[in-house]
Amino acid sequence: MEASLLNNFEHLSPVWPHFTQIHVDYAKGPYIYDINGKEFLDFTSGIGVTNTGHCHPRIVNAIKHQAEKMLHAQATILYNTPITKLSHKLCDLLPSELNCFFFSNSGSEAVESAIKLARHATKKTNIICFQGGYHGRTVGAMAVTTAKSIYRKFYQPLMSGVIVSPFPYEIGNNYDSDELTKRCLKELENILLTQTSPEETAAMIIEPILGEGGYVIPPKPFIQGLREICDKYGILLIFDEIQTGFGRTGKLFAMEHFEVTPDILVIAKGLASGLPLSGIAASKELMSRWITGSHGGTYGGNILAAAAAIETINVLKEEELVENSEKTGEILLNYLKGLQDIYPFISDVRGLGLMIACEFLDYEGLPDSKTAKRIRELCVERGLILLTCGTQDHVIRWIPPLIINKLHVQDAVSIFSSALLQYKEEKNE
Ligand code: PMP
Repeated sequence: MEASLLNNFEHLSPVWPHFTQIHVDYAKGPYIYDINGKEFLDFTSGIGVTNTGHCHPRIVNAIKHQAEKMLHAQATILYNTPITKLSHKLCDLLPSELNCFFFSNSGSEAVESAIKLARHATKKTNIICFQGGYHGRTVGAMAVTTAKSIYRKFYQPLMSGVIVSPFPYEIGNNYDSDELTKRCLKELENILLTQTSPEETAAMIIEPILGEGGYVIPPKPFIQGLREICDKYGILLIFDEIQTGFGRTGKLFAMEHFEVTPDILVIAKGLASGLPLSGIAASKELMSRWITGSHGGTYGGNILAAAAAIETINVLKEEELVENSEKTGEILLNYLKGLQDIYPFISDVRGLGLMIACEFLDYEGLPDSKTAKRIRELCVERGLILLTCGTQDHVIRWIPPLIINKLHVQDAVSIFSSALLQYKEEKNE
């Protein structure tokens, strides 16, 4: 192909936003290299996907090995060893109640599966979701997504039977979390009295830690309260751990922080280190109520992706990446808290493991997306890729691969710190 065409993107849909202008050539571990050979520290992990780093040699080998044997073993035609092995591996990792799996390709697709299973198994129609949640771009997943209006605007009306309940978070963090938890749980009970009775409510779906909505950790009693309400009224509880899963928060799954097991767990992203694989886990009893043939898909549970997932789980375990996420996350969190003391426009630093947020508010205490975006830009110029999130894009999120060490953290923090300094100078000019 002519060299001039390499930088001509006119045939790619403009619907994709571009947070950087980096034209990637290859990637290795925590680094990305562009076509001019410039190195970037990747603290996005491709939105929480490459938890084992880019192209981990063991995972690349597992994919190569499988690619030579077979690329597509259609799930309704054939049984195959990788997907069966993966189901056993996941079973060993998860609470005993979550012992049966359905696999698909993307996170959104797995959320659709969770909603379809909940509706089918209970013969009830309605789904409760939580304010600020993000569950994906397909029509059902969009209907339970309230992280930003752009995800829904001009696509509505969406799937009906969805009711949104408050999530215990207020911008500015000047709230009493016990009081807010009580208020949110009371409102949820009120919704069951006034909008959707338990007899018609199939499930509640929640991210145990808000992802796209701003990296918000709810109080433990809130998540425990949801479990109690679901048990009291016979409603299924769905945890979307697509972003929080596979070691991201310093535990294998974020649900461990809350000591709560859902009825349906949704997984994707970190599961297969970059190959598209997602799924849901539930009890065998619940899955048995899903009538055979009532759901499926051509590619779901791809054999190549399953081989990558098996090796991903081996690497997570043998390289102690979940432990590293907890340990390195604490180091990063402390450095960032130190910077918050110097730069008061960072209004909050919060996180668990390597899922960390720096929130920016302006002098009036309002979300400051301009600052967050400018600092993100200044970091990219200096070779550190970060993403933003939050309902108003006013939060910088840190989601590095779980393989990073203290030196990577120091390099990233030093770039961030230099970006903050330049930003402060620009503001004072
Ligand atoms: N749920 C959560 C919590 C997510 O973070 C995402 C992706 N950011 C999704 C669902 C949707 O996944 P996908 O983009 O693979 O469809």
